Amino acid sequence: MAPKFVIAVDRIPSDGWSVHIDLRSEQASAIARERGWTRIEWVSGPEGNARVLRSGRDVFVTGEVRAMVRCTCVRCLERHDRAVTEAFHLTYVTDIDAAPGEHELRPEEMEVEALPGDTVDVADIAVEQVLLALPDHPVCHPDCRGLCPVCGTDRNRTPCDCRAEAPDPRFAALARWKSSRAS
Ligand SMILES: [Zn+2]
Ligand SMILES: [Zn+2]
Repeated sequence: MAPKFVIAVDRIPSDGWSVHIDLRSEQASAIARERGWTRIEWVSGPEGNARVLRSGRDVFVTGEVRAMVRCTCVRCLERHDRAVTEAFHLTYVTDIDAAPGEHELRPEEMEVEALPGDTVDVADIAVEQVLLALPDHPVCHPDCRGLCPVCGTDRNRTPCDCRAEAPDPRFAALARWKSSRAS
């Protein structure tokens, strides 16, 4: 990734390192693809700010990131753009200063993610934060009516007369009972 978004842990200044995030869509796509997210299209790449601080073996990354991504609605399959704004406050642990033989995590570090490698890649983090903020099952609109399971019509555009659900068997029994009484 672009070196401007990467800092080595042992080069983090004592008063922290601030970086402006302005990734192009292609850069964001490349990072997302490496993580297996191939179905996301980036309308505008992550933009925002991050600050990296280090205290001993702990590395803190805080910031905020905004992006516009194109998702596919799980109900009607329409593509729709979704604005994401995500603030993050992450803690990693690094063994960079560990004394020889002291590579085991302290108990309080067990919950904390280990920093992969000896660098912090803010571009990776920004993309990951946007991806994690996306819903598992995106819908174009909360009231999306989706595709008709019978005829496939997009019911947001054209209503259809199909009966979406099979009739409830209890009501069918009731209807038979009623019609038997009527005759
Ligand atoms: Zn939809
Ligand atoms: Zn239909």
